[in-house]
Amino acid sequence: MTALLEVDDLRVEFRTRDGVARVLNGVSYHVAAGETLAVLGESGSGKSVTAQAVMGILDTPPAHVTGGSVRFKGEELLDAAPERRRLVRGEGIAMVFQDALSALNPVFTVGFQIEEQLRLRRGMSRKDARARAVELLDQVKIPHARQRVREYPHQFSGGMRQRAMIAMSLALDPEVLIADEPTTALDVTVQAQIMDLLAELQRDRGMAMVLITHDLGVVAEVADRIAVMYAGRIVEHADARSLFRAPGHPYTSALMRSLPHVEAKGSELSTISGLPPSLLAIPPGCPFHPRCPRARDVCSVDVPPQVPLPGGRDSACHFAEQEVSGA
Ligand code: SF4
Ligand code: MG
Repeated sequence: MTALLEVDDLRVEFRTRDGVARVLNGVSYHVAAGETLAVLGESGSGKSVTAQAVMGILDTPPAHVTGGSVRFKGEELLDAAPERRRLVRGEGIAMVFQDALSALNPVFTVGFQIEEQLRLRRGMSRKDARARAVELLDQVKIPHARQRVREYPHQFSGGMRQRAMIAMSLALDPEVLIADEPTTALDVTVQAQIMDLLAELQRDRGMAMVLITHDLGVVAEVADRIAVMYAGRIVEHADARSLFRAPGHPYTSALMRSLPHVEAKGSELSTISGLPPSLLAIPPGCPFHPRCPRARDVCSVDVPPQVPLPGGRDSACHFAEQEVSGA
């Protein structure tokens, strides 16, 4: 499969008054048409910043892209002209955000916000744009789309608002959809419905999807591949099936142990001890070493390389082979 989106050795720092925060330290991932890549990690691991750099919406300053590459169908985006980036946004790569309420404009109807894109970017007439907006609301399973297209975001429930934002992101038929914690703000039953919807749209449209989440449970159902992030790095990358069968990085193993299991009902959840590091002072060697149950002396000195594992996976751990084999 040829990748639609390729992120390669991406580096971003935030130059703050307190010092330089190394937010991304060489992030690489790729996603092909018809495929869902989940980017998994705790908050602050760099998942959203990577997506913002891909979309060209990183707030600068204090954010500075200091290296690497972001390619869409082979075209480098990082040094593309702002006009070109605007074109790719929406039509090439679109994004769904966690918080629909702040992503939608409260003073315009939901329909207007979809139609505006179609009129400006596709030159559609008012009438055609309205018809297409209704179709899109229908596709994201908003009941009574013909009426609801005239309503304002505050008239929608949280789940319906999220659906409306998904409809808006699909208006220009993007080839890549990045969904950043799309269900975090919703209650559990609605979360499952929205995930099902995204999975269905991804399949039906043959889109590439990058699903950003801190929830391993969410990715289990929908991801083809998983990239696990920690302290601005991808520490493990594997197909979903083998990662769940045998994680190849101690951090992934720790995340899995913190997952609630049906059998373990009533028993204590194990959580990962310690906190993610401050990006102003990332520990030397392996950034996970202060929290890692497998850490040895070498871990606080040498940055682990990306160790290739069988099945095209890799893991940034000095002891990746032992971890994956459960030794
Ligand atoms: Fe743990 Fe060392 Fe592997 Fe880092 S390199 S994850 S500290 S064992
Ligand atoms: Mg985030």
